[in-house]
Amino acid sequence: MLLKKSPEAASPPPAAPEPAGTLFARIKKEIVVIRPQGELPAKNAGSFSRYSCDLCHAPHGIGDLRQCGLCGRWVCPSCRNEEYYICSSCSGIVKLHTLGMEKR
Ligand SMILES: [Zn+2]
Ligand SMILES: [Zn+2]
Repeated sequence: MLLKKSPEAASPPPAAPEPAGTLFARIKKEIVVIRPQGELPAKNAGSFSRYSCDLCHAPHGIGDLRQCGLCGRWVCPSCRNEEYYICSSCSGIVKLHTLGMEKR
């Protein structure tokens, strides 16, 4: 392998503003994944064809629950953040990060 020095060719790219994906990746590192994506929610022991919200443990139909894209918890409408499509547990972490960025 030949190491050729060409000073003009490879100038470092200009410092771009941090893309949203990077923040998301950083947040993801702090979140403990409860379930892998695609895994079904826990069945509610007390009622047939109902599933438990992973945060408040209330029984819900499968149509009411959404899997959090970060931790994989299945959460009911009152336990999720519709703005980010994540559970309220993860949205607390996301808010910490985004607030820290705004308050500069
Ligand atoms: Zn819930
Ligand atoms: Zn979550």
